[in-house]
Amino acid sequence: MTKTIRYLAKFRDWRSIAIAGIAGFCLTFAALAASVSLSGRAILAAAAIGSLSCVGLTFLWCALCVIRKLSEQNVRRNFALNNMAQGLCMFDGQHRLVVWNKNYEVMYGLESTIRRGCGIGELLAARHAMGSLPQDPKIYEADLRAALGRGEIFTVDVEMSDGRVIAVINQPTSEGGWVATHEDITERKRSERELENTRAFLDMIVENVPSPIIVKDASALTYLLVNRATEEYFGIDRANIVGKIAADILPPGLVDTVRAEDIKAIESGDISYQGEHGVVTPGNGTRVVTATRLPVKDSAGKAKYLITVINDITESKRSEQRIAHMAHHDALTNLPNRVAFNECIDATIDLAAVANESFGVLCIDLDRFKAVNDVFGHAIGDSLLREVAVRLEQVCQGAFVARVGGDEFTVITPTAQQPQAAEALAERLAAAFEEDITIDSHQMRVGLTIGVAIYPQDGADATALVANADAALFRAKSEARGSIRFFEMAMDQQLREKRALQQDLRKAVEQNELALHYMPQADMDGRITGFEALARWHHPRHGLVPPDVFIPLAEESGIIGALGEWVLRTACQEAASWPNKLHIAVNLSPVQFQHGDLPSLVHQVLLDTGLSPARLELEITEGVLIGDFTGAVAMLRRLKNMGVRVAMDDFGTGYSSLSYLQSFPFYKIKIDRAFVANLSHSQQSATIIRAVIALSRGLNMPVVAEGVETEAQRAFLAAEGCDAIQGYLVGRPMPIEDYAKLVGRKPAHVTLVARG
Ligand code: C2E
Ligand code: MG
Ligand code: MG
Repeated sequence: MTKTIRYLAKFRDWRSIAIAGIAGFCLTFAALAASVSLSGRAILAAAAIGSLSCVGLTFLWCALCVIRKLSEQNVRRNFALNNMAQGLCMFDGQHRLVVWNKNYEVMYGLESTIRRGCGIGELLAARHAMGSLPQDPKIYEADLRAALGRGEIFTVDVEMSDGRVIAVINQPTSEGGWVATHEDITERKRSERELENTRAFLDMIVENVPSPIIVKDASALTYLLVNRATEEYFGIDRANIVGKIAADILPPGLVDTVRAEDIKAIESGDISYQGEHGVVTPGNGTRVVTATRLPVKDSAGKAKYLITVINDITESKRSEQRIAHMAHHDALTNLPNRVAFNECIDATIDLAAVANESFGVLCIDLDRFKAVNDVFGHAIGDSLLREVAVRLEQVCQGAFVARVGGDEFTVITPTAQQPQAAEALAERLAAAFEEDITIDSHQMRVGLTIGVAIYPQDGADATALVANADAALFRAKSEARGSIRFFEMAMDQQLREKRALQQDLRKAVEQNELALHYMPQADMDGRITGFEALARWHHPRHGLVPPDVFIPLAEESGIIGALGEWVLRTACQEAASWPNKLHIAVNLSPVQFQHGDLPSLVHQVLLDTGLSPARLELEITEGVLIGDFTGAVAMLRRLKNMGVRVAMDDFGTGYSSLSYLQSFPFYKIKIDRAFVANLSHSQQSATIIRAVIALSRGLNMPVVAEGVETEAQRAFLAAEGCDAIQGYLVGRPMPIEDYAKLVGRKPAHVTLVARG
């Protein structure tokens, strides 16, 4: 009612009420005055009542109009309130709820709690209890009141326990209350978060792309965005890049190129590629890169940004160079290798042929390298090779030096007056190695043996030239270590002959054309204890070829495998057939230890021939222990474990005899025949023999002296305490038939040359 009156109070059309009153008065007065004979007072009173009635009726009508209007407004307001997307509530100056809509109730599930006049505190507590207000309601209310007190809008995003997010805006009203809108922004928040996540994801991707990515403003060409790879690429951090232009960070020469490429890409409006080029970066040295540029256009089609993706290929270029270097260089000495040598010699021949010039090829062999390796170990050997490489390069200024094998080097001289220039260089090289080399405080002296061939007279192509330099080296080595030899036609002939002989030897082994001679060994009393099997090759044209010639040939060509097996099998077979159980000694080449499974072969041969292992004596030289020392000792142990005896042959001629003797319990030591042969005229030989006998006694290894030809030699050896002898004095190498009696067979004929 009060509301209606309030509305009525505001109602402006009082004229109609006044008119109605006047009209009612006039009508009543006129009607009564005309028809009824009443007193004037009565008529005036009745007219007044009539006017009041009209005013009352009009007022009533107006009130009804107002009520209808108000209810219409209420319906409209409620309709509007309840159809708002947001929740809405209004509080009066006492912070009591006066208006709210359905959405507000439903949003917080307040249907049963909410009522007009309830306080904000009550509502907040109810919402907190239902999980729709995670904050402490008291604190929330205090914050709200404080903001409203300052006349400020209080906004807050409320995250509810069910995951919804409500944006609340509290707007103060002039009456001291406030209107609050509550909007469910869950979806918006989710989209925002997704957008944020997507942006963060993209930022992370761009940041972590290993290629430098640069975004520039398309008009000013300032750096707008760079990723981490760009910082690394430029060698400075982004604070010194972003906002700058190329001229601020790149050297002047490069700036023009970068700018020109940027403008070209922007003008073309399309992706553009800049091939391999160098960039001097502010803090990362010179880089080799390729670049891809892409302008990004705005909606009007105008280039807005320029994206540049850099592909830094510096490392792959370096690897390529390293691989190319490795393919052409020796890893140990960093000298050019055989591949590089072959390329260089071909190129040098081409140039020399055109210019009608001459040059020399030097094949160089390091003397005593094996001994160094053996005595001081491989690490020192490697250091020596490196030092040799340095010396060679120092002497060969202007010439091409390569390492083409273990201790083999080659030099290609510059084109000059030949053979004088090559000879001078070879002499300088030899002189450079006359002095000791000190490695890790070990002093050593290694010489050079050099073979030289001159283009074009000693070979028109690389193959011939190198083969002839090799032939010259071969000759130099066979003549004297440390010598220099130039190629001569005769050498070529020798090399050919050597190859032909190798072919013949191969055939001889295949066709079983070799023979074995047997040389007796005796104790100091002359009693024959066994025989050494020695291979013999009767060449159809050259006659008897000495083993000192054909064994190295066999070793060089790999024939030694078949030859050695044939000797072992034949000798064992032969000895197994002897009635007297004498021992049989077989020589083994170092090459037989390097290829194939020698212990298994020996085992098989013993099984096949039925020879007792204790009767087999294998003679090895120190060469077996050079190279793969551990592997060789392991094989020797396997042989020993089989019951086979292992003797050290040619002792005293090798490199470091003492250490080898300690490395394996040899069954006997054979003093090389050179010492025995020199006994009569070399005091030194007598001293060495004495020393070896004393040493072997200490090691408990019997000593056999080889090459004993005279009674004087035998007497000396007997006096020195030698255990056994072998030599022409006891018997020469002969077919076994010649020793039939000694082995217990019926003799065909006797040619015994035993000591009398
Ligand atoms: P080696 O094993 O030291 O054999 C002893 C060599 O000294 C034999 O020479 C023998 O004839 C010679 N010799 C022994 N006593 C005397 C002597 O009193 N005076 C003289 N002037 N010479 C004597 P040969 O048979 O010419 O063999 C030379 C080398 O060839 C052997 O030395 C051995 O290293 C090698 N050899 C021989 N046969 C074979 C074989 O079947 N396999 C292998 N791997 N090497 C073999
Ligand atoms: Mg021997
Ligand atoms: Mg010997």
